[in-house]
Amino acid sequence: MVETTRHTFEENQAAAAKYLARFADRTLPHLIDGEPAAAASGETFENRSPIDGAFLGAVSAGGAADVDAAATAAAAAFEGWAATPGGERKRILHAVADLITERAHEIAVTECTDTGQTMQFMSAAAIRGAANFRFFADRAPAAADGLSLPTADHVNYTTRHPIGPVGVITPWNTPFMLSTWKIAPALAAGCTVVHKPAEWSPLTAHVLAEIALEAGLPPGVLNVVHGLGDSAGKSLTEHPAIKAIAFVGESATGSLIQAQGAPTLKRVHFELGGKNPVIVFDDADLDRALNAVTFMIYSLNGERCTSSSRVLIQNSIYQQFTERLAEKVSRIPVGHPLDPAAVVGPLIHPRHRDKVCSYTELARAEGATVVDGTPYPDAPVDGNWVVPQLFLNADNSMRIAQEEIFGPVLTAIPFADEADAVELANDIQYGLAGYLWTSDVGRAHRVARALQAGMVWVNSQNVRHLPTPFGGTKASGIGRDGGDWSFDFYMETKNIAIALDTHAVPDLATG
Ligand code: NAD
Repeated sequence: MVETTRHTFEENQAAAAKYLARFADRTLPHLIDGEPAAAASGETFENRSPIDGAFLGAVSAGGAADVDAAATAAAAAFEGWAATPGGERKRILHAVADLITERAHEIAVTECTDTGQTMQFMSAAAIRGAANFRFFADRAPAAADGLSLPTADHVNYTTRHPIGPVGVITPWNTPFMLSTWKIAPALAAGCTVVHKPAEWSPLTAHVLAEIALEAGLPPGVLNVVHGLGDSAGKSLTEHPAIKAIAFVGESATGSLIQAQGAPTLKRVHFELGGKNPVIVFDDADLDRALNAVTFMIYSLNGERCTSSSRVLIQNSIYQQFTERLAEKVSRIPVGHPLDPAAVVGPLIHPRHRDKVCSYTELARAEGATVVDGTPYPDAPVDGNWVVPQLFLNADNSMRIAQEEIFGPVLTAIPFADEADAVELANDIQYGLAGYLWTSDVGRAHRVARALQAGMVWVNSQNVRHLPTPFGGTKASGIGRDGGDWSFDFYMETKNIAIALDTHAVPDLATG
């Protein structure tokens, strides 16, 4: 998701001042049935910037009553939207993509200021948001199409129907892009949506809902309710009108949601945590591997579900590879998120920064060696700044090797041979992504097959192709997104069997 930005630091700062002023001036409302709405309770929470702790605005703190209003609006809008011809849904979703592209700079500077992610990744993420809408818009007309499964006596055919109003619950790491990745296929399928964005990054969800209305999405088709997870989020997962929950976030939250949704038999789709291995064999192209290993943990502040946060390096190259890695880490620019030259910015929230930093002490206590990157000299004191770090000489049983840190922190572990590498890679509760570097084709296939992960990249960083399935195994998720897999989640499949009047129909009245 790297894109060269066309704006200077100063231009980005001016744009941020312009676009964020409106959020500071008034309480950010929900958007329910096409209208802004304050929380029924009147309660709000504060939103602060990770850069310097600056107050970005108050946000409506939704609860059960707000979720009920949004779910009721989504239920009322469902019949009309589900019956809207696929071609018309396609037209409106393309109009959403056009407006995202038009407002991409606004979205990017807003996201940088709200999350601390840096401009070079957020400008690309905004464009990817538009691409997500275009991808699913183009598939809307055929979303209901099914299969023909004839037998000698029957014509069987399947059709698909949107499941109903759905809840989308998203995290704070790349909030805009991830929201579009869930909301676009739901809308293309004919579902209506109640979106509960993360409380630490609420702003771009509002922009997306505004854009959707402007693009012609009927009121009630996309609703946004802000609020905390254990109030607004919980109510959404429990609401009887909501037929399914698409959730991206922590594994522990996924467990809660499954329990909360059980009484109403919610269909769930979970994209959860990861501690993804990247295996570097000694026959790999080490220059490319080095860049990919660095990219996959230090881009997006390491706050990335598919980050390669565990690097497994063959013994014979461990020394030279980690020396080169440490040298690279020392040259990763930490800086202001709006500076196009910055790679790593401040982390989302003081609580998350403290969590990430707690692993430095833990690494030392567990016997690993900590290598620090270079800090941002102009870092504002009240921001959530960190330096990129590398933990060397770790072993896989350490907590720094087993737990998702979700920051710009890489744990390096040596391995002996192929069997050892596979065993270490799989010895973890997670199973989202795996990466491996080797020039041996047979080994590439063997290891790719053996890795317990939903996605494997060989000799590559994470490069997404939207028709391919995205998702995790083990504690990393349930279900797949992408291509037609998204429609399988947001739609019900119906089989229709029509007799050719040739088969025997038993007559039970034989007495
Ligand atoms: P989180 O689980 O704390 O929160 C995610 C969302 O869930 C937020 O909107 C939150 O308000 C809501 N929530 C919290 N408790 C809830 C409850 N009881 N009921 C309903 N909703 C509730 O996650 P986070 O800290 O915001 O995000 C980081 C996590 O997301 C990491 O673990 C990361 O790996 C994961 N993630 C996974 C993917 C993926 O594709 N697998 C992508 C991005 C992020």
